[in-house]
Amino acid sequence: MNALTRNPADRVVVVGAGVAGLATALRLAPRPVTLVSASPLGLGTATGWAQGGIAAAIGADDAAELHAADTLAAGAGLSEPEVAARVAAEGPHLIDWLRGIGVAFDRAEDGALALGLEAAHGRRRIVRAGGDATGARVLEGLVRAVQAAPSVEVVVATVRDLLRDADGAVAGVVCARDGVPFRIPARAVVLATGGLGALYAATTNPRGATGRGLALAARAGAVMRDMEFVQFHPTAIAAGADPMPLATEALRGEGARLVDEHGEPVMAGVAGGDLAPRDVVARGIFGALARGRTVHLDTRGALGSRMATRFPTVAALCAEAGIDPAVQAIPVRPAAHYHMGGVKVDARGATSVPGLYACGEVASTGLHGANRLASNSLLEGLAYAGFVADGLDAASGPALPEATPPRASGDLAPIRALMEARVGVVRDEAGLREAVARLAPLSPTCDAALVALLVAHTALGRRESRGAHWRSDFSGSAPARHSEITLGTVLAEIEPAARAAAEALAR
Ligand SMILES: Cc1cc2nc3c(=O)[nH]c(=O)nc-3n(C[C@H](O)[C@H](O)[C@H](O)COP(=O)(O)OP(=O)(O)OC[C@H]3O[C@@H](n4cnc5c(N)ncnc54)[C@H](O)[C@@H]3O)c2cc1C
Repeated sequence: MNALTRNPADRVVVVGAGVAGLATALRLAPRPVTLVSASPLGLGTATGWAQGGIAAAIGADDAAELHAADTLAAGAGLSEPEVAARVAAEGPHLIDWLRGIGVAFDRAEDGALALGLEAAHGRRRIVRAGGDATGARVLEGLVRAVQAAPSVEVVVATVRDLLRDADGAVAGVVCARDGVPFRIPARAVVLATGGLGALYAATTNPRGATGRGLALAARAGAVMRDMEFVQFHPTAIAAGADPMPLATEALRGEGARLVDEHGEPVMAGVAGGDLAPRDVVARGIFGALARGRTVHLDTRGALGSRMATRFPTVAALCAEAGIDPAVQAIPVRPAAHYHMGGVKVDARGATSVPGLYACGEVASTGLHGANRLASNSLLEGLAYAGFVADGLDAASGPALPEATPPRASGDLAPIRALMEARVGVVRDEAGLREAVARLAPLSPTCDAALVALLVAHTALGRRESRGAHWRSDFSGSAPARHSEITLGTVLAEIEPAARAAAEALAR
């Protein structure tokens, strides 16, 4: 196996080229960084698809304290106040930083930044670029900056494993490109690999979002937190595409309505109606679909032909699906969208494994708790990129020769169907037990099954409904607690029961 030798020995490897990885690579300058991305720069990220925007307390009537308070309220008792305060305080500076690298945000008529309002934000604080193309514009700006940065070397390859030194510290990565493995030694590794939505049959996430970084961290023994909290976006466009395009929540903010096939309001009788919190609307639509109805987002009355100019990204996505939202209602359903849980990190983005850091959606920083406040995730990735760069302590020694076990990438379809049916918007004990039993035997050799198993296992253990985690058999809340696990503790807990159940299923 070849070792990449171009960079000096104090290089940091950053895995992933979404907002978190690109910003971390830039913030680490002038330290040498090798940025490893499974897709060419600009492709294969959730970042590029973000439609809403970036939350930042910029308005004259706003303050970081108010933004933090809204974040805590959305987090349903599991967001950490000091993390919310610290990230919210960074918001305005990070918008300035992005402008500094050339991202042009939308302006109001008076020339000030235009600030949008989104559900559960008490103030107008959503900064946008190109209307609903914020993610694409931010990604373009970051990619341009990385391409111009002399300290960053980009390698297009998939990271398959982590190298360790004699003390167990992470000391680099094992990659593969076109089936050829090679290693990149490093003094520290930052995982910025994004989320796990693509483990579900219905998702808004890119195909590669199968939690690959979560599997790397879990297999290295890292503490994982709140893995069960998966946010389902209520209004993915249900027109046959996989992944499913998103119809942003801002449409309902502008008056679009959720109706069934008879034109009857789907959210009638629910507090907040069409503008209820994201998880409430997701369950409302899920319930209607389970009763055999179809659900549509009707933009005709509120927006009509203005869709094309006001929401150009959604209009284009509809056009691709053969829908004209000016004259047709858009078929929608909930889809896995964002993972609140992840690899537990401290204030510097450090995981429990020496030499291993995590940033962006793969990390559990304590910001999102049981439910993410809209437009807080791009912000979190940008903020923690700076915290990682400022606090990174690159101290690992030379990497030991690794023995990478063979892993199956295999057919994801059965896992995605299982997650959709048993670990989805509404969960119960029987379904979660079945999921654990089916996933456990696959997990030693399949990373996707391993990550799915961690979600199902922690969902089974959380015998309450909180935020995005809804148990039909435990609809109330228990005292607030985080779930913290390692792969070792999970396997020790499930092995006997899961083996027996798996054997029973096989019979
Ligand atoms: C449709 C959609 C709309 C959204 N809208 C908003 C919004 O308006 N505002 C907001 O704040 N958030 C929004 N989000 C959430 C937000 O976009 C994501 O949480 C955020 O972009 C994640 O950034 P990231 O850098 O962590 O991961 P990503 O942007 O997903 O990037 C992950 C990177 O890791 C790479 N990678 C993964 N595994 C490996 C591996 N093993 N080896 C090498 N590379 C690997 C991928 O190729 C990719 O480059 C939205 C998400 C979606 C899907």
